[in-house]
Amino acid sequence: MEKQIVCINCPLGCRITVTMDGNEITKIEGNTCKRGENYARQEVLSPVRVITAVLPVEGSSVPVSVKTAAPVPKNKIFECMSEMSKANLKAPIHMGDVIVPNILGTGVNVVATKSVE
Ligand code: SF4
Repeated sequence: MEKQIVCINCPLGCRITVTMDGNEITKIEGNTCKRGENYARQEVLSPVRVITAVLPVEGSSVPVSVKTAAPVPKNKIFECMSEMSKANLKAPIHMGDVIVPNILGTGVNVVATKSVE
């Protein structure tokens, strides 16, 4: 079986073909560099994403933008979004503050990417 992936690690956007035998990768083609190979391997075996969101802040008319400090498993995106939306945030919030520690036990913190006074 073949899977087609577009590498998102640089503007070149190489089209990578990953050939699988069951759950095993047998060939990776189309990447221009090692980063693309690593990305394709990860994307096929256990895809991850950084999640970003904008959350309301009590006491402020300005919401705060947040993101996971590292990628989390792609299949947990919706659960993570739901967990983030439960955060009860109050101003002031400073850039880098941990908004949700260790979200869903992934070991990844959700942090503020801007300050709200
Ligand atoms: S494989 Fe390398 S050169 Fe191609 S898009 Fe990915 S990072 Fe860029």
